Amino acid sequence: MGTTTRYRFREYHVTTAPDPTALPTYQAVCITGDEHDCAATSGTTHTPEELTRWIAEHCAQTDHTSYEQTTHTILRAEPGNWQ
Ligand SMILES: [Zn+2]
Repeated sequence: MGTTTRYRFREYHVTTAPDPTALPTYQAVCITGDEHDCAATSGTTHTPEELTRWIAEHCAQTDHTSYEQTTHTILRAEPGNWQ
């Protein structure tokens, strides 16, 4: 499997690609904690720098150092001809 995702449905050959007009969004959740994750969340941010700033502030306040990052990317499906 390559990095391009293809799925054949009925007579179409569909390729998905990131939508250049829709910017990705980033979110972080603090997963620091022994029995329970802290679970503080940055909410939706629009740049990695904004996300890092939130982490830096949260880390400064709590000394928490483990975070899970999620990136949301909008994809466009591009139907093509059956091949
Ligand atoms: Zn935390």
